[in-house]
Amino acid sequence: MIFRQLFDSVSGTYSYLLASRAGGEALIIDPVIEKVDRYLTLMRELDLRLVKAVDTHLHADHITGLGALRDHTHCITVMGEQTKADVVSMRLADGDKLTVEGLSMDVIYTPGHTDDSYSFAMQDRVFTGDTLLIRGTGRTDFQNGDARQQYDSIFNRLLRLPDHMMVFPAHDYKGDTVSTIGEEKRYNPRLQVKSVDDYVALMNGLNLPNPKMMDVAVPANVKIGLHQQEIARKGWALSPAQAGALGQQGAAVLVDLREKSERERHGVIPGSLHAPYAALQENLLPGGMLHALALSAGKQIVFYCAFGERSAMAVQAAQDSGIAARHIEGGIDAWKKADGAVVTL
Ligand code: FE
Repeated sequence: MIFRQLFDSVSGTYSYLLASRAGGEALIIDPVIEKVDRYLTLMRELDLRLVKAVDTHLHADHITGLGALRDHTHCITVMGEQTKADVVSMRLADGDKLTVEGLSMDVIYTPGHTDDSYSFAMQDRVFTGDTLLIRGTGRTDFQNGDARQQYDSIFNRLLRLPDHMMVFPAHDYKGDTVSTIGEEKRYNPRLQVKSVDDYVALMNGLNLPNPKMMDVAVPANVKIGLHQQEIARKGWALSPAQAGALGQQGAAVLVDLREKSERERHGVIPGSLHAPYAALQENLLPGGMLHALALSAGKQIVFYCAFGERSAMAVQAAQDSGIAARHIEGGIDAWKKADGAVVTL
């Protein structure tokens, strides 16, 4: 496995780059906007293709690199389903898997620091965001934080992971880089409490100043901009009703770009084909499924995904390779709100 812990000294943020092999797919956790050029260079040097950029939660102390990485690499942006950020093209829930080629992480909902905080666990390590820090825990006094929920997330979820598991947090301000679950159980001063009420009292008594960047970072991280607006301006967006009508006439093929797990959880549009976003480039090339459908069978391609972000990027990629695709604005989420039919797999 390729693993890099990257540090932003201004905000004390750790970002993590992971891949199973050189030449393969990569994912990055909690990227910082000022470091995006550094990540891009490193990925070129290591011969990695960024497929997913993930935030553990909506950050208050730095601006996320998700939007810039999406613009540079057309990667999928990922957060938990509770997020208020617009940029997110894939939303995870507790029990889901976060995957790229050769790597799979368990998605654990760990609210408390914020109401959209997630942790990601794989074999020997867990990425804990700001839920569990090294000898500390993330503050719970803003962004819908809740000390009681955090106690539950830490004691009933994270501390039940094996003791040897390495803990990689989103921040450290003292220079520590890694810990383990067992070590934090024993030596994290915030965890030496006798009850949930003791923990709540401890957290509510911290009286911390707001982070310096908070008034800038939170609004910036909520609104990172959508590709969909650009695609609509070019006339390549369809409403759910328009897409449904084209599909019924047989003039168009609806193509689902989501992953298997999303299709299983949220259902699919009847009669649609599956071509996951990660394999888009291959499918658009001569010999690929989408190339054949559009250019040999003369079908209009109509992409859809969860919320319309991946499909907007796919429309642009298809148009760039000479295929006149469009997409359903707002994805299957908008389709369902318009009472479109959905079948479960
Ligand atoms: Fe945070």
